[in-house]
Amino acid sequence: MRKIALIGGGQAGLMLGFKLLNAGYPVTIYTDRTPEQVLNCRIPSTAFLFDSTLNMERELGLNFWEDLAPFGEGIHVDFRTPDGNSVMTVQGSLGTKKGQALDQRTKFCRWLQEYEKRGGKLIVQAVSVSDLETIAKENDLTLVAAGKGPINALFQRDDSRSVHEKAPRNLAAFVAVGKKLTGDRPWKRAPFRPLRFNFIFGVGEFFSLPFYTHSRGESRSFLFEAVPGGPMDIFQDARSGEELIKLAKEVVAKYAPDDLHHMDQIELADADAWLKGSFVPTVRKPIGILPSGAKVMALGDTAVVNDPIAGQGANNAARMVSYVFDRIVAQGDKPFDQDWMSDVFETFWNESAKYTTNFTNALLQPPGEPIMAVLQAATTNKAIADDFMQCFDNPRTYWPWIEDLDAARQFVAERTPRAVA
Ligand SMILES: Cc1cc2nc3c(=O)[nH]c(=O)nc-3n(C[C@H](O)[C@H](O)[C@H](O)COP(=O)(O)OP(=O)(O)OC[C@H]3O[C@@H](n4cnc5c(N)ncnc54)[C@H](O)[C@@H]3O)c2cc1C
Repeated sequence: MRKIALIGGGQAGLMLGFKLLNAGYPVTIYTDRTPEQVLNCRIPSTAFLFDSTLNMERELGLNFWEDLAPFGEGIHVDFRTPDGNSVMTVQGSLGTKKGQALDQRTKFCRWLQEYEKRGGKLIVQAVSVSDLETIAKENDLTLVAAGKGPINALFQRDDSRSVHEKAPRNLAAFVAVGKKLTGDRPWKRAPFRPLRFNFIFGVGEFFSLPFYTHSRGESRSFLFEAVPGGPMDIFQDARSGEELIKLAKEVVAKYAPDDLHHMDQIELADADAWLKGSFVPTVRKPIGILPSGAKVMALGDTAVVNDPIAGQGANNAARMVSYVFDRIVAQGDKPFDQDWMSDVFETFWNESAKYTTNFTNALLQPPGEPIMAVLQAATTNKAIADDFMQCFDNPRTYWPWIEDLDAARQFVAERTPRAVA
């Protein structure tokens, strides 16, 4: 059996680790923190997973929070002018594609423990490039799934696929509890438990999602995406989660006053339930060449990191895991050489990640004409709104109409009789 090493115990490294273990591969995960350290650190993210990703986790028996984490059942969006006026509201159900957001501290701590329980070899070590030389020699294939870790510098930026030179948004996120945030119908206007989105033209966006964390159980995550230097970009000097909440209330009062009452008496879930910062979305070349000439392959965010605006990073990582796993198995005893790595990534890029990246980048811009045509129709047509939201599960399904006005009109026309009926 081929020996495989994975660097990084996050969404991508752990998922692939479990899949390989199930298939009988000897697999070693190197990660820089113990399960306890993972549990007791700041939240790394507020990732919401759509149904397809949850299904992959279910198949692996990793859905320990299935009955605890509240489902996000639909998306309720307001598009607003910079004075906070809503000029368009779209509300769509995720239907069978509902998802869940789980604290990654909760999840990865438990998964790391589970991985060892199932016989996986776990080494707690912050891997350097020189460590990679040794690891690559000892294994038939080494994949680096280090998230946003500095070791990613080993993989060159792909200029032809990376459109951002600097961070498009400054981010701030926290997890909170509060009486008006949780339960089945926290937003009276939405006939489901919503992912709540506000897009403020030229200013930024903010999102709040049903969430689960070990520290408080059912809760809600908040993510603010500020256009750098713009009027919402006020979070980066905050020194605590409480300060973030105070600033968040100011932002919501200014731009989405109808949402403010949900934040009455909210509390930070725990002292570490917040983050702030920014990063440059980047597509990297998938092959890292070590000083010795040995090759290692990028996985998850190390390969493709997008802004969180479309909620796709962990979902994209899971999709990549699926591609890589199938191709590892298909390769049998043949070498995992440069051609193989390149072909696996190109296939994944062309069939999946390209769409995820383009969709994410589209959301960072004012909506183009085709998207506007669909959104306008979706304001009054439930079938269109539902189908629009359900495409989040697999951004490839936004094509071709997202870029083509005729196709967008057809998308609307095909669904119009259904709504009337
Ligand atoms: C605010 C925010 C909100 C988000 N919301 C969403 C969302 O709604 N939906 C969604 O799908 N995604 C979302 N994401 C993105 C998502 O969290 C990531 O895309 C996903 O976790 C990537 O998985 P990964 O395995 O590639 O990296 P990670 O999950 O980051 O895991 C990387 C692991 O590698 C370890 N590591 C790093 N360097 C080394 C090293 N040298 N040696 C050993 N170990 C190392 C790290 O400690 C970490 O454990 C969001 C991100 C942010 C910041």
